[in-house]
Amino acid sequence: MLADNMIRLNLNESAYPPLPAVAEVLHEQVLSAHRYPEFTPHGSRRVIAHHLGVSDDMVTVGAGATGVIFQALQAALDHHGGVVPELVTATPTFDGFPILAQLLRMDFRGVPLDRFGGVDLDALRTSVTAATVAVIVCSPHNPTGTVVDERELHAFLTSLPDHVTVILDQAYIEFSTAAPDLHRLVALHPRLVVVRTFSKAHGLAALRVGYGVGDERLMSGIRRFEIPFAVSAPAQAAVPVALAATTALAHRVEAMRAARDRLSAQLHAIGASTIAGEGNFVYLPGADGVALGSLLGTCGVAVKTVPGHGVRITVGDTFSNARVLAALRATAATA
Ligand code: PMP
Repeated sequence: MLADNMIRLNLNESAYPPLPAVAEVLHEQVLSAHRYPEFTPHGSRRVIAHHLGVSDDMVTVGAGATGVIFQALQAALDHHGGVVPELVTATPTFDGFPILAQLLRMDFRGVPLDRFGGVDLDALRTSVTAATVAVIVCSPHNPTGTVVDERELHAFLTSLPDHVTVILDQAYIEFSTAAPDLHRLVALHPRLVVVRTFSKAHGLAALRVGYGVGDERLMSGIRRFEIPFAVSAPAQAAVPVALAATTALAHRVEAMRAARDRLSAQLHAIGASTIAGEGNFVYLPGADGVALGSLLGTCGVAVKTVPGHGVRITVGDTFSNARVLAALRATAATA
């Protein structure tokens, strides 16, 4: 647990509370908290499918991207051939992936990012073995914010053997200006599930709701692992309102991108190097990054340190970003 007075820039949370329209439906939900939500979230599934312009059968909804990835990994286990199944992904990455692998008794194989902090698709491909049931590609990547090139992604997906399910984790996709065409991806690759969440750009991390999109057959297999009542009623009430608020969301995303680029430029100005990422965070690679991360910790700013690799700073509100800079400037001045 973090001390109450720490500034939380370690979990890539939104700098903003829920949009007013979403907050309003959440308030309305309080008085029916004695009621169960839908058994499995068909209503949210319909709304999300409609929003994306795909059929309901191509969607699953779960308890955050984490819950949906857990479902997808469970379904992927159908394809293991008697050996210990393996999950392959680029590392460092989201801490949840090795945890989910362990829960499912899968081996976790991390393939190092390239020297620019990018996912090395060639290295991922050559790491796939007969035991590999799933590969996760995270784009924008956590913690570096790099994105995979759309054409290279298609070539990668085409090159994989049929027994491998690919999870394209797009938790940060709303912040990216380089989003691949979702319809083309799922139409061309029947073993691909694209996973998104309401936790990041929509600022609803506490509600625990995310979704996966893919080929109908793959998704019917993944929906078998939807846990009854796992998506709460407040979460289900928030989904349509959050999706309808496209203009308000776009303003927030635009403001966040501008704040990210400003923070990055200010960090450069004091001599720190950053990776130009597409998430709601800035990554400072190398030992200097790690050192700056521990410094921020001592100044009351919690950030995500990746030992031996760098530090990730979530872009916060104006106050938090100013605090980051003040702490770093003060130390630069005394160094
Ligand atoms: N995937 C990635 C890449 C993430 O960074 C995170 C959260 N840090 C998640 C998934 C988890 O998202 P959710 O809150 O939707 O479970």
